[in-house]
Amino acid sequence: MTPFKKPFIAGNWKMHNGPLAARDFFGRFLTAYAASPDRTIVFFPPAISFGAAQGAVAGRPDVELGVQNIHWEEKGAFTGEISAKLGHDAGAAFALVGHSERRALFGETNEDTARKTRAALAAGLTPILCVGESLEEREAGNAGAVVETQLAAVLDGLDADTAAKLVVAYEPVWAIGTGRTASPADAEELHVRIRAILIDRFGADVGGATPILYGGSVKPDNAAGLLAAREVDGLLVGGASLDPEGFAQVCAATG
Ligand code: PEP
Repeated sequence: MTPFKKPFIAGNWKMHNGPLAARDFFGRFLTAYAASPDRTIVFFPPAISFGAAQGAVAGRPDVELGVQNIHWEEKGAFTGEISAKLGHDAGAAFALVGHSERRALFGETNEDTARKTRAALAAGLTPILCVGESLEEREAGNAGAVVETQLAAVLDGLDADTAAKLVVAYEPVWAIGTGRTASPADAEELHVRIRAILIDRFGADVGGATPILYGGSVKPDNAAGLLAAREVDGLLVGGASLDPEGFAQVCAATG
């Protein structure tokens, strides 16, 4: 973690917590986690619970909300989808794009991810662009190349001014939901590589400032170690963000 950057901690609830459970969660989380101006906390509830989450955090401007998925079109006959604009109109500030579950389970391509990223930026949402290699790709020694290709597909369409609004999350697929976390050294290796790519494309001011989050089986007991790794600016947390007290500990961790 670079000392001057404020940690960015995000909780992705995936398909968990309906409106009642969301209210209950925040009742406990906001008691356990004291507001702090020197970190960014963002939750990604399921779309159906967005309004409930919004009501529950209304008195806590330190806690922001995002949407887990967006369509790249602004509106139209796309049953079941929500656009970036609809998310923004509802009060979301962030959108996840390129999450490995979207890629693996719903067939989303790098090109889809690029379109979603552009749609999020155009609508005023900050995209959190997820990239990461599978176990097979890592074992073949291709982790860096895979991440580079995923990044290039999105970054090719962006200029530095637009890229200044981006957040990147390095999420090795083999660590997501598996209980197998990347070591701080593994995370650092890829984060340093991502940072170099960002600086090379957009210059030190923009590329050096883009938050790069680590995601993959983060828990209260490994959060601080990961945050201490070089170029790890924050954490994207799935399973452990469902436990209000445990996630409060992750949010308070310092690297
Ligand atoms: C995720 O879904 O982005 C994630 C990192 O999940 P988990 O923390 O459960 O591995």
